[in-house]
This record gives sequence, structure tokens and C-alpha cells, in this order.
Amino acid sequence: MTALKLDRVNKSFGKVQVLHDIDLTVDEGEFVVFVGPSGCGKSTLLRVIAGLEDATSGRVEIGGAEVTRTPPAKRGIAMVFQSYALYPHLDVRGNMALGLKQEGQPRDVIDARIAEAARMLELQPYLDRRPSDLSGGQRQRVAIGRAVTRQPQLFLFDEPLSNLDAALRMNTRIEIAQLHRTLGASMIYVTHDQTEAMTLADRIVVLRAGRIEQIGAPMELYNNPANRFVAGFLGAPS
Ligand code: ADP
Ligand code: MG
Repeated sequence: MTALKLDRVNKSFGKVQVLHDIDLTVDEGEFVVFVGPSGCGKSTLLRVIAGLEDATSGRVEIGGAEVTRTPPAKRGIAMVFQSYALYPHLDVRGNMALGLKQEGQPRDVIDARIAEAARMLELQPYLDRRPSDLSGGQRQRVAIGRAVTRQPQLFLFDEPLSNLDAALRMNTRIEIAQLHRTLGASMIYVTHDQTEAMTLADRIVVLRAGRIEQIGAPMELYNNPANRFVAGFLGAPS
């Protein structure tokens, strides 16, 4: 099955076109990383997939169903942001429960999903704490745990490690890789970090000024970059 299919997706803000004819297919269980310089459209593309922005034209399919005009909550996705996006007035358990409550899940399902996600991300000690009592790394694990409780068809990560220091960045990256293996879930992950892209990705999508420059497995791009731009990004000697 196909986790995601984008068909000639364009996105403009006013007169400014930010995404140009994006075609992309992500297989079920695949880990796909979007890389490219700041402002090239990585977040916008992720937000179009999530339904936080509507495509100006083109078609978005998730899990075989067309979702081009479907609201985010009904797309079967869960997104993790650089800024964590936790609710400060809710404790960790409340943050993890909120989306499931809105979905109308019964109490026992909510409790079981939170327990499972807390176990996977070692969040049990923090369940009754507020985000303000947690470190950045702990907050991001909560945000990732919250995504896990949704059991999404597709996980979307937008530079989830950018606010963390180097040691935490590595630990959290390894946790995300473990999560991908454990869940066998489809994941799309935005970064401008070469190490993250090379270590996490099944395939890397290189974006430049709103267009796909090259798509391939990390070593494929590393050994065979289409041009100097791709080579520059993936660190292969040119
Ligand atoms: P990246 O995530 O790769 O850094 P973005 O997707 O955030 O890039 O931005 C791509 C381009 O779209 C930038 O030029 C940015 O200024 C513009 N852009 C993003 N969101 C909006 C918006 N809501 N309104 C107008 N322009 C936007
Ligand atoms: Mg961005």
C-alpha cells in the first residue's frame, strides 16, 4: 500500500509560488526525509500533507484515500513540531489525551494508548507534570508520545530536534529511529541536518526553491548526486 501520494502539488501564498509541481510517492513503512535550505518549502510541503495548508492545485492521497480538502484531524496523520506545541495548562497525560478525546475514543482506550506510548518513550515519571516542569528533550518526547497515541497512518516531523542540544539531539534521533522500527510506521521527516538525513532516511527528497531536485536512498545521493547543489547538501566530495 501507498502511505502518501502527491500529484502535481502547487502552493502559492498570494502571488508567490512556494511549491512547484511536487510529485511524490511514499510507501507504507517508509522513512522519507525532506532536506533543503531554509525557505525552500519543506515546512509548507509538510503542512500541505497535514492539511494545515490547502494545496493551491494538485492532489494529496494518504493511505489510498484522497484527502486534498480533508481537515487535518481526519487525515490519519500526527505531526511533531520543532516548538513541541504542548498545551501549557494541561499535564503530560492531558496533552496526550486531548486529541483522542476529540476523536471520541473511550476512556479505557485513551488510558491504554497513553500507557503504551509512555512505556515506549519512558514518559511514566512525567505523566502528572506540566510541560513547564520539563526539559526541552522531555517536552519533545511528550510531543512524540502524543503522536504515537494517535496511531496515525503517517507521522510528520518538522525539524523536531532543532531546539535540542547536541547530546539530546543524538539520543532523540535514535529514539525516533527505534520508534520507526518498532511501529513499522510511515514517517516523513524534515531537517536541514545532514547526519539526521543520512542516518534516518530510507529515501531523501532534496528540495530547492520549491522544487524536487533529486530523490534517492542516502548512499545513492551521496555517491551519485545529480548536481553540485545536492552534493553540497549531502557532503559528498565534488
Ligand atoms: P522551510 O521550511 O524550507 O524553511 P517554508 O516552507 O517555511 O520553508 O517557507 C517557504 C517559503 O514560503 C518562504 O519563502 C516563506 O517565507 C514562505 N511562506 C511560508 N509560509 C507562508 C505564509 N503563511 N504566508 C506567506 N508566505 C509563506
Ligand atoms: Mg521549516
